[in-house]
Amino acid sequence: MKYKKQRLVILGSGFASFSTLKNIDTELYDVIVVSPRNHFLFTPLLPSTTVGTIEFRSIIEPVRTAKENITFYHAFCTHINHEEKVINCKNALDGNEFSLQFDILVIGVGAISNTYGIEGVEKFTLPLKELSDARAIRQRIIENFERASTPGLQFEERKRLLHFVVVGGGPTGVEFAAELHDFLTEDLVDSYPAMVPDVDITLLEAGDQILNTFDAALSEYTVKNFQRQKISVRLQSQVAKVEEKELILKDGSHVPYGLLVWSTGNTQTPLIKSLPFEKDRASRLVTDEYFHLKGFHHIYAFGDCATIEGEALPATSQVAQQEGYYLARSLNALAKNKPVRPFRYKHYGMLAYIGSNKALADLPQVKGKGFSTWLFWRSAYLTKLVRWKNKILVIFDWTKAFIFGRDASRF
Ligand SMILES: Cc1cc2nc3c(=O)[nH]c(=O)nc-3n(C[C@H](O)[C@H](O)[C@H](O)COP(=O)(O)OP(=O)(O)OC[C@H]3O[C@@H](n4cnc5c(N)ncnc54)[C@H](O)[C@@H]3O)c2cc1C
Repeated sequence: MKYKKQRLVILGSGFASFSTLKNIDTELYDVIVVSPRNHFLFTPLLPSTTVGTIEFRSIIEPVRTAKENITFYHAFCTHINHEEKVINCKNALDGNEFSLQFDILVIGVGAISNTYGIEGVEKFTLPLKELSDARAIRQRIIENFERASTPGLQFEERKRLLHFVVVGGGPTGVEFAAELHDFLTEDLVDSYPAMVPDVDITLLEAGDQILNTFDAALSEYTVKNFQRQKISVRLQSQVAKVEEKELILKDGSHVPYGLLVWSTGNTQTPLIKSLPFEKDRASRLVTDEYFHLKGFHHIYAFGDCATIEGEALPATSQVAQQEGYYLARSLNALAKNKPVRPFRYKHYGMLAYIGSNKALADLPQVKGKGFSTWLFWRSAYLTKLVRWKNKILVIFDWTKAFIFGRDASRF
């Protein structure tokens, strides 16, 4: 028997939506993906691209060729009319507007970097969420070294340009600081031998612990490792204001910087904030354990923009990917009138790179740290990369960086 195909519109091309896309049966649904990003990005390896340990294109997968018989629109969804089952969209490049009808809507638009409304953050800091952010950071690092090399430059100005500050002691901030340290000690030391002794890396954390989702002993180990690497960790340091060349902490101290990476957590996108559906205190859409928006059986939400009522899961790729896989399987089953079970999350643990070929593993059964854990970290992420092409490119990049070093050219 032939099933009548319903039109399934998927918003976003991140971990949750892409996982649904990869596993949905296009014999059962007409699938349309709407996203301002025409590729899937493997964010766990994004910090490595800021310094060239891995090249940008090695960790992305284009959406258009990820699956046959789908339609992709390079656009933002700007409005959802749930009564008429219509969404409004805006092309991400030229702003041209259009609308789309749907039978089933899946919302997986992720979250954006939270500035907490602190003055100057949006204007002067660099986030680390997208490839374009990583590219901007890489460019700025090299530019600062070139500018700091100008003959006759005042010592204070050179120190400022070479002060790299990271705000936020979560895994992303820690991994970026670690990658930057490796870049300095393994590569920039050859290109800029006179500059490297003047470099400072500072990690600012508002709480009293970095990596607070990890085991406390692993967090302490990271701080000690950073001390050895001369990365200064400043706890209980809340940023009050950011200016062009310095930031001001709540205790009144001024910290001059040359590059400021902002990595403090998430807030919801303008689309999610504008929707009239039920939300939790963090403005995430509230769903049941099948990912239905409360009260709507034809609209689903998952990933960083949503939360299951009564089961707060962390905002991680691991959660989003499992949710996406589950939703595809349950939509496939529903189209065949088969029953579906509620979603159950399985936690496999957390990993983080902390520099000098050392990593942390906080797994349900075991805690690991050091060089052997770094080998595990690398192999775990290799297996997590979706396509063989990406796995081969990443192995190639790691080998290239090991043999020839990372490139420090500006172009
Ligand atoms: C640098 C970095 C490192 C990370 N490392 C790890 C890690 O090691 N382990 C881990 O578990 N997690 C990690 N995370 C977190 C993880 O990336 C997120 O939890 C995960 O990506 C969330 O998946 P998602 O599908 O909800 O959102 P995303 O993956 O962010 O995707 C959201 C998608 O929605 C699109 N979108 C946005 N607005 C709209 C709109 N209006 N209309 C249509 N589409 C829209 C975006 O372009 C994007 O394609 C990391 C995150 C970052 C930034």
